[in-house]
Amino acid sequence: MKTKLGLLYGGKSAEHQVSLQTARSVINALDLEKFEIHPIYINVEGAWIKGPQLSGSVEEVKALEFSQGHSLSPLSLAPSFQDTQQEAAPLDVIFPLLHGPNGEDGTVQGLLELLNLPYVGNGVLASAAGMDKVMMKNVFAQAGLAQVNYVAFIKSEWAKAKEESYTKIEAELGYPCFVKPANLGSSVGISKCTDRAELEAAFVEAFQFDRKVIVEEGVTAREIEIAVLGNDEPECSVAGEIVPKKDFYDYKAKYEDGDTALIIPADVTEKEYEQLREMAIRAFKALDCSGLVRADFFLTKDGKALINEVNTMPGFTPVSMFPLLWKHTGVEYPQLIERLVDLAKERHAEKQ
Ligand code: ADP
Ligand code: MG
Ligand code: MG
Repeated sequence: MKTKLGLLYGGKSAEHQVSLQTARSVINALDLEKFEIHPIYINVEGAWIKGPQLSGSVEEVKALEFSQGHSLSPLSLAPSFQDTQQEAAPLDVIFPLLHGPNGEDGTVQGLLELLNLPYVGNGVLASAAGMDKVMMKNVFAQAGLAQVNYVAFIKSEWAKAKEESYTKIEAELGYPCFVKPANLGSSVGISKCTDRAELEAAFVEAFQFDRKVIVEEGVTAREIEIAVLGNDEPECSVAGEIVPKKDFYDYKAKYEDGDTALIIPADVTEKEYEQLREMAIRAFKALDCSGLVRADFFLTKDGKALINEVNTMPGFTPVSMFPLLWKHTGVEYPQLIERLVDLAKERHAEKQ
């Protein structure tokens, strides 16, 4: 029996186009002997549109942008709801190929839980905690994971006591520091600050994206990433290194310039790799992750690893870090997708 796989992509998000590229890559990698592909497009306004079942590869992303015509209520994906409709049989697994808020943050996962549909990747809790950098760092601290010092601010608190906020940062963290919206990804709204004037501007910028902001001590370190795959017994890939050409790995470096070098495997010692691996698994378990996570680290000159973040739905095109790390570990892109679908089924079965 073929697996009826619902691909959820697009989204009301800054990463809409990235998600479309991912959807195309996943569709083209799927074995049609094993899968029936059901595309579900979320347009930039946030409307869900069910496309026709696909029977082959797609050459162009445009082909996946369905028009408003076939608009669908997300609820109609539920098996129980479908019983009352003359629609096609319910889907077996949903693969949310969505990044950032309203996709990677537990909201879509909550919807899929309510619909009782198996889905790929992290559940509600891990997704939500992983999207909020303050929450994530608090959990990491609790798990004893080494990380940079940080301070969090709520917009209304900061607005009432700006001077005190800046003084606190200067006393506790110093310069350079990084100011980030708590709930975002892709480096959107992040600034590196080297003095008070930059700090003030950075707060204004970051608060445009979120009501919560995190400020971190800046470190000079290599950026090393590990891909984790599994449910209760997660496995780690080899390590990879990102070498941004710019000052830091900002949005442009990630998606526009394309000249950031990815070095796989990263040139780390056996001891450093062991440390990173252990921390990646500890982070995965601390957030109660499932399916997949990319754990991102800073590795200082003296070989100390600090966890920066985990991404619960990391970039997933064949040239993204997560699939490349698995490729170098011996798992090709089509197998990686199949493994994730199996993990989704496995976790769902456990819950029943
Ligand atoms: P995102 O979730 O948007 O990827 P990150 O926290 O990973 O946000 O920050 C984006 C990039 O900014 C990092 O990859 C790194 O290059 C730089 N950066 C972030 N925080 C720090 C820090 N505390 N010290 C040094 N560089 C940092
Ligand atoms: Mg991130
Ligand atoms: Mg990052």
